[in-house]
Amino acid sequence: MVETATDRKLEGTVKTGDRNQFRGQKGLQDLVLDANLCTGCGACIGLCPYFRSYRGKTVALFPCTLMTGRCFDFCPKVEVDLDNLSEKFFGRSYDGNPLGSYQTVMISRADEKVGSAAFQAGGTVSAIIYFALKKGYLDGAVLTDRDGLLPIPRFVTNPEDVFTCVSSKYSAAPTLSALNQGIRDGFTQIGVVATPCQVLSTALMRSNPLDDKAFVDPTGLIIGLFCTWALDFRPFEKFVSDRVDIKNITKVDIPPPPSDMMEIYLRGGQKIEIPLEEIRPLVLEGCSYCADMTAEFSDISVGVLEGQPDMNTLIIRTERGRKIVNEAQKEGYLVISDMPAKNLEHLQSAAGNKKRRAVIKAKQEGILSAKILEKITRRSHVISD
Ligand SMILES: Cc1cc2nc3c(=O)[nH]c(=O)nc-3n(C[C@H](O)[C@H](O)[C@H](O)COP(=O)(O)OP(=O)(O)OC[C@H]3O[C@@H](n4cnc5c(N)ncnc54)[C@H](O)[C@@H]3O)c2cc1C
Ligand code: SF4
Ligand code: SF4
Repeated sequence: MVETATDRKLEGTVKTGDRNQFRGQKGLQDLVLDANLCTGCGACIGLCPYFRSYRGKTVALFPCTLMTGRCFDFCPKVEVDLDNLSEKFFGRSYDGNPLGSYQTVMISRADEKVGSAAFQAGGTVSAIIYFALKKGYLDGAVLTDRDGLLPIPRFVTNPEDVFTCVSSKYSAAPTLSALNQGIRDGFTQIGVVATPCQVLSTALMRSNPLDDKAFVDPTGLIIGLFCTWALDFRPFEKFVSDRVDIKNITKVDIPPPPSDMMEIYLRGGQKIEIPLEEIRPLVLEGCSYCADMTAEFSDISVGVLEGQPDMNTLIIRTERGRKIVNEAQKEGYLVISDMPAKNLEHLQSAAGNKKRRAVIKAKQEGILSAKILEKITRRSHVISD
């Protein structure tokens, strides 16, 4: 890589992590990619010709010396002003609640009008996107398909295509590159299904950080997936291909506790189980600093429900989320009922624990986001001094 005069002048400043000093490709390279914090969300891909995702890794093909860039401003792994985002989307400063800001927590599953498919759990995510595309509330949706075990971003417009993307791909996916594509193609009511880091990045995009006067929010609905961690694609693929023929995989599942297994389903109905302790070493380094389990900046968040594998946990956060969920229920696409108190308690505790682990790790490593993570958890009393 050819070093330019601008590069040299910037050395030493980017390490401060101050968004106001350097907000371009070199900052992203130093603070995120070289620091092994990237979780491959895809937000920096497709904005310019320089960034690419190749088999789970985000790489910069050529150096760019611009002082600012959307790649840097949209990255969820550079320090994020959570107060600012919370004010913008929820009308109040960030208070560190383990589940973020929300209206209600329910349980749900796809109803009869959706039909059956190999959903991860209750099919709530697919049901809502299917309904919203059919009704014209969304003009396209950003989903994640797979080729073998490799997650593939998809931009779909046909409601039936939602069913080609069902179920979880447990390695990091450059899903948001499909959002960049959809925006470039002129879509204006885009549905996004995304993990918490991807949702945070989408919130950064929607906050118009570069103050573009012509900016209009291109999203119609953000569905966040609960996430505790994601796997590094390449070692995960090797690990699995040493045990089974990847072409025969029909679904991968990690049932909630007390199960401590990854389940891999194969054509012909066979299932193999792998203890999670063998999988954990393959988790991305960047996930260990992640303080968000429930995708706090989404319109609605969906996860599995402990003890009921055919149901989902459903968090409704915003008015546009509530409106679509209510209509989907009324029109026979979604079944909703109350969340049992015990499940809610477990959910809060799991989300709080994730915040605590992230803070401890960030403090140990002395990384930039430690300060902000500490602020989050102090406020929510997740940890004490
Ligand atoms: C990496 C990862 C970790 C997760 N960890 C947890 C957890 O700790 N606890 C928990 O309760 N739930 C977790 N989930 C969420 C859970 O697995 C289900 O996605 C969720 O409950 C929705 O179920 P569903 O039946 O409605 O999904 P479906 O209707 O089958 O739809 C699944 C949707 O997920 C999208 N998707 C799949 N893989 C990815 C990916 N890698 N990135 C972005 N989008 C993707 C697909 O586009 C599809 O729209 C995780 C999901 C992922 C992808
Ligand atoms: S976390 Fe996302 S935006 Fe940041 S460098 Fe990685 S792929 Fe790009
Ligand atoms: S744990 Fe956090 S950083 Fe890792 S994939 Fe999930 S949301 Fe992204």
